[in-house]
Amino acid sequence: MSPENASLRELSDALAAGKLSSVELTQAFLDRIAAANPRLNAFITVDPEASLAEARRADERRASGTAGPLTGIPVAHKDIWCARGWRTTCGSRMLANFTSPYDAHVVERFAAAGAVLLGKCNMDEFAMGSSNETSWFGPVRNPWNPDFVPGGSSGGSAAAVAARLAPAATGTDTGGSIRQPAALCGISGLKPTYGIVSRYGMVAFASSLDQGGPFAKSAADLALLLNVMAGFDARDSTSLEREPEDYTRCLAEPVAGASAGRPLAGLRLGLPRQYFGEGLSPDVARAVEAALAELRALGATTKAIDLPASDLAVPAYYVIAPAEASSNLSRFDGVRYGHRAAEYGDLIDMYCRTRAEGFGAEVKRRILIGTYVLSHGYYDAYYLKAQRIRRLIADDFARAFGEVDMIAGPTSPTVAFRLGAKTADPVQMYLNDIYTIPANLAGLPGLSIPAGFGEGGLPVGLQLVGNYFDEARMLGVGHQFQRVTDWHERVPPGY
Ligand code: GLN
Repeated sequence: MSPENASLRELSDALAAGKLSSVELTQAFLDRIAAANPRLNAFITVDPEASLAEARRADERRASGTAGPLTGIPVAHKDIWCARGWRTTCGSRMLANFTSPYDAHVVERFAAAGAVLLGKCNMDEFAMGSSNETSWFGPVRNPWNPDFVPGGSSGGSAAAVAARLAPAATGTDTGGSIRQPAALCGISGLKPTYGIVSRYGMVAFASSLDQGGPFAKSAADLALLLNVMAGFDARDSTSLEREPEDYTRCLAEPVAGASAGRPLAGLRLGLPRQYFGEGLSPDVARAVEAALAELRALGATTKAIDLPASDLAVPAYYVIAPAEASSNLSRFDGVRYGHRAAEYGDLIDMYCRTRAEGFGAEVKRRILIGTYVLSHGYYDAYYLKAQRIRRLIADDFARAFGEVDMIAGPTSPTVAFRLGAKTADPVQMYLNDIYTIPANLAGLPGLSIPAGFGEGGLPVGLQLVGNYFDEARMLGVGHQFQRVTDWHERVPPGY
């Protein structure tokens, strides 16, 4: 099997057996990036010398017998993660000249595991978007069709893995930015339970919703990546102090005691009525129904459930996320780092010009909305009300998990759309995340896996939402599905 289509386990075994060196593997992916990135714009920064130096160190570590499963494997990071010595732009002109002096916790963990930093991936500016069209560095294109968006905000990471320019990548998910681009690019992506992956060194958008997670071809690969990414970090005050888990532990048997032919026997899946109604495109519905039939054939049972408050998820999110963003983004003032206007009068004028020049339109829209909903006189009417809705949404899930083990449905209401199709209408753009946002508001884990193709031969994603800390079992369910389907092995034509 060619390295770009191999699983992480296969790559790890080939490295361990000495069939392949990390330098060769890294060079192979760097060559693929050099050839395809001009078409896709998936990477903002590649630094072959820095990556190859890490690969050499990984090969030495293999030789010395201290390697772990990911030692020598190249991993691309969304450009939201600070990495020492690497430019870290967050897709913004504001940080276009910023080289990070330190590593994010996640970057540190991958480095400690011996993974090779392959490059920094394009993204929507400050992770605000669903199409990767708000990046200062230009849009990313979908490898399945270059006239279509890859989804956002982690569109560069998703396109890179889909086009086999990286075996794995990281992303962040505030309202769907891992699951939605994974679905639109035909790969697997996981948003973990809030608090499992440290946010230290991850540029903040909406801190109570932001959560880092992995992208890969398969659920089994995601489990290996989450083993590295997850873990307590005292530098993030919302990081959860828990016993380390092995997220690969349910790959063989996700449901205790299930029989060999029916590995999902005993698994109760809830299908929210609100996720299958108006707004769901028929081609996506067809693919998701077929995937559910496959899960039933594996032994799972399905039943309709209600998440009545989820209709209010998008409006509540677009109060809470901008409110937190308006506060988080106040640090970009041109004083200590990042962009500073070349010409200005006094200090206030410097702030104004710097922020006017440094931020794009979507970021400015969010800062204005956020400042408005937090201001005296509107706080109770908008912000407080949104927080109450957030609680109702979490309560809906808690009730649902009393009767089912996991929730299943579409990741996104449509397949990828054309570049430019929704840029003039923010509300249409926001509605892309209607099925992903509820899990962020509740802090629950969500997984998207490839589930076939819809209109225009574009990929469809199946979403699983689990209860808190149920990642291992969700990955197990995804893995069983991927043992009997090959959607996750399909490669976009030309790659
Ligand atoms: N599309 C959503 C937004 O624009 C979610 C983005 C994200 O998850 N980072 O806010």
